[in-house]
Amino acid sequence: MSTDYDDWDHYDHPVPEGYTLCPRCDGNQTVACHCGGDLCVCDNQGERYCPLCGGEYGDEGYVKKEVAEKYLARQREMHAAFQKGWAEAEARTKAATE
Ligand SMILES: [Zn+2]
Ligand SMILES: [Zn+2]
Repeated sequence: MSTDYDDWDHYDHPVPEGYTLCPRCDGNQTVACHCGGDLCVCDNQGERYCPLCGGEYGDEGYVKKEVAEKYLARQREMHAAFQKGWAEAEARTKAATE
């Protein structure tokens, strides 16, 4: 008599072929809605379904590798732009106070 079902490891889910864990929500399928919890204006109480993997209707927090790569590339671009803007703002502040 085997009770393999009970031994089944939920955390050792194989990632579907060609998919990767969603980089937007880390596979949680929900993301912060950025309204700010109690002040939330989108009725999600601070959480909303991940727009990248689709949340509830998605693929268990997985996205196609191409989608993840596109998202990460965009993140890198935004990060670089932010760093650049920050450095410029700092330089301006420094110039103004010196
Ligand atoms: Zn909200
Ligand atoms: Zn996601």
